[in-house]
Parts: sequence; structure tokens; C-alpha cells
Amino acid sequence: MDATHLVDITAPLQRAEIIAVGSEMLTPVKTDTNSLFITGVLNEIGIEVASKAVVGDRIDDVMVEVQQAIERVDLLVVTGGLGPTDDDVTRDAVARVLGRQLVEDPEIVERIRARFKRRGFEMPEINRRQAMVPVGGTAIDNPNGSAPGLWIEHGHAEARKVVLLLPGPPRELQPMLRTIVAERLAGRTSGARLYRRAINITGRSESHVDEALAPAYARWLAGQPPVSATILAALGQIELHLSVIAPNEASAREILDRAVADVMSVIGADVYSVDGESMEVVLGSLLKQAHLRIAAAESCTGGLLTSRLTDVPGSSAYVERAVIVYSNEAKTELLGVPPAVIDEHGAVSEPVAQAMARGIRERAGVDFGIGITGIAGPDGGTEAKPVGTVAIALAGPGGDDLRVRTFHFVGGRAMIKFQAAQAAMDMVRRTLAQRQHTAGSAEAARTAS
Ligand code: ATP
Ligand code: MG
Repeated sequence: MDATHLVDITAPLQRAEIIAVGSEMLTPVKTDTNSLFITGVLNEIGIEVASKAVVGDRIDDVMVEVQQAIERVDLLVVTGGLGPTDDDVTRDAVARVLGRQLVEDPEIVERIRARFKRRGFEMPEINRRQAMVPVGGTAIDNPNGSAPGLWIEHGHAEARKVVLLLPGPPRELQPMLRTIVAERLAGRTSGARLYRRAINITGRSESHVDEALAPAYARWLAGQPPVSATILAALGQIELHLSVIAPNEASAREILDRAVADVMSVIGADVYSVDGESMEVVLGSLLKQAHLRIAAAESCTGGLLTSRLTDVPGSSAYVERAVIVYSNEAKTELLGVPPAVIDEHGAVSEPVAQAMARGIRERAGVDFGIGITGIAGPDGGTEAKPVGTVAIALAGPGGDDLRVRTFHFVGGRAMIKFQAAQAAMDMVRRTLAQRQHTAGSAEAARTAS
């Protein structure tokens, strides 16, 4: 059996763990970012990161992590702690766990010596430590630093596992990892890759989404290949991330499309995008498609809604104008909100939001008018209308009050403003989606008869 054949029967590397070594990353001032880079690169070649850890520079602690990792995964990447000083323990810890002796590689010593010489220095004796290689390991050239990386294989022939040691400084690690992927790692994977899809959802809580989709999750996980789902909740909205390890892009797309269709059939109305697009982009294309224009009257959002809408290139096709009407006087003067309505219901109320929506729609001469009035806090809340109370109204063609709703958002001022803008856009989006749906059904009925 020749060496090539041995490589052929080696099981592909599928699951990885990353260990970042360095006590500085256990302080509040330094973050481990290498693991994010490493994760991205590994995902590109279909290796899933199962776990990661940050450990201080104590050899015993590093050994425990390394021991656990090599039991659980096929590929362990350790970053940091390859320097020449006493607190650089990675090389020793890994050699001890794997039961390998460390042997000085004279070629590496010469390379380090030459590196120092080029800058006019003698190599300090302690740098010899960086030339120590565990028996059976391969040193990996570091074009940007003195510490070489190490590639170590362990385990028996059919289930060879890999431990990869890389220096901590990102500018050294990044090019080295790219080279290793091209020269060594890519050939050791199954050829399958990880593909993701992000679904954005509004108007439902995380637990609602979870509950509604539980049967779908079970089906996805039982599928071949399985689709896994992760829910992230941020700023009053939900992101559902679907991922699958598939042999190629076409099959990944097919599998993920099917999972997305499952989601749509259960909570379709609450999904605003299935490819990670933001609300303003989604709403923008709906308005553009339908040749409709909008204008906004903003109080507590202070223009944020319109700012977000106009972040989208080409938004002049559907954004006509906006006014910021913070005071009661402005609401009356610029939009014709009757003072009596404000007196009777309060500035933060559905009748005022409706009057604002109608007022801006008429004045701008557009299809849709939005009115937003609320209390962003931290002061100004009352028992009946606590901070986060926001009334949003949508006036449509013909001056109809299409929708109005009072929301109770949580969070700080900025979060409340963001959620109010999001909810206002979502209100228009839902209205347009419904119209499209109704138009589609009418068309279908006409065709059928
Ligand atoms: P050196 O030869 O430079 O000592 P090393 O492999 O010993 O390399 P460390 O001493 O652990 O690496 O780290 C050197 C620097 O690299 C740190 O000061 C830090 O700025 C950066 N660094 C280390 N680990 C990480 C990490 N996981 N994420 C981001 N930066 C890191
Ligand atoms: Mg160091």
C-alpha cells in the first residue's frame, strides 16, 4: 500500500475545535478574534466548528483543553502561545498530551537566526524554543514572524486526526492558515461545505417561532444531510439561521429552499426576508414594484424611519418626503392634527397617529402616509403610557385609515426608536404583501373561471 492510497482511505476531517491560548484574552480589554477568522476559513471548506475555548497561559489548563478536544473532534486548531518566552506553553502542552518528544529542528533554528540577522540582531538563545518540533510533526513556514506553525497528525491510519498550532498575531496566522488550507486541509475534507441561509422574522417572539417550527426542526434534523436551525433574537426581531453541509451549491440550495418553504408555510406572513435582506431593502422593492410612494410623519423616531428608507439606493422612486413633528404645535401646523384630538387623547395615541398619517399623505400627494408618535424615554412615561409606548398608523389611498396599532417596546431610547421604525416599515410591508396576495388570488380566480 503506498502513501497516496493511505491518504485516500483516511476519514475526512469534519468537526473542529479551536483553542485560543493567552491570559490577555481573559481580561476585559482583549478579545479573541482569531477564532472567528479560523471558523470562517474552516466553514468555507465544509469543516464545522463544534466548540471553542479561550485558555490562559498555564500549561495544565492548556493540557486539559487539548486532551478534551482531541477526544471530541478530528481537527484541533490552537492559536497563540508559540512565542519564545516562558509563558508560551502551547508547544509543550500539545507534545505532552500526544506523548511526543520535542526535538530541535536545526533548519528552523537557522531560519530564525537568519531572520534576526536580516534586522541586524543576534538571535537570543530563548528563540531556540520556537524550533522545537514534536516527533512526527511538520513545521509550517511563517513569512511574517519567527514562530513557525506546526502540523501534527495522530490516531491510526483510517482515522487520522490533525492538530494545528498557529501563532497568535493575526497578521501571522491569517496567511499561514490560507496556505495550510490550500496545501493540506482542503484535500482532507469530504468536499462538502457548510451553506447557510438567514430568515428574518418580525411580529413574533423567539419562543413563538420555536414552538411553531418545532415539527419542522425535527424533520430537518432527520433529513440526509440534516439541516440545523439556530434562532437569534435582537432588537425586537428574530433571525432564524439554517445551515446544511452539502456536497455542492446546487444541492445545498435545493435543501435550504425546501426548509425555507417549510418556514413560509407555517409563519410566512411574519417572514420579511429569506436571504438576509434588511427591512428597508425589502419594503423598498415592494413599493418600487407596485409603483407606490410614501411619506412619513415622525415624532419619537426623529427621522430614523426615513433615514433608514433612504439608506437604500434608488429610494427616491418611492420616498416623497418626511416631516419631524416633535411638538404638538408642529403636528397641528404641519399636518393639520386638530388640537382637540391631541387634548382629548394625548399626543401619544392612535387618533393622533392616524391624523398624522392622513395629514402627511394628503400634503405629499402619495399613496401611503405613516404617522409615528411615542415615548422613547427614559423620562415622560406614565402608568397608562409607559416608556416604549408607540402608536403607529398607516393611511392609504383615498385617505383610508388602513392600520393603526399601539406597540409597547422595551429597551433604551435607541432601541425603542429602531423598533418603532421597524414596526412602521413592517406595517407597510404587510399591507403590500396582502394586496399582492389578494391580487394574485383574484387573478387566479379569473383564470380558473
Ligand atoms: P509571538 O511569537 O508573537 O509571541 P505567540 O504565538 O506566542 O506569538 P501570543 O504571544 O500568544 O502569540 O500573542 C501575540 C499577540 O497576538 C497578542 O498580543 C495578541 O495581540 C495577538 N493574539 C494572540 N491570540 C489572539 C487571538 N486569539 N485573537 C486575536 N489576537 C490574538
Ligand atoms: Mg507570545
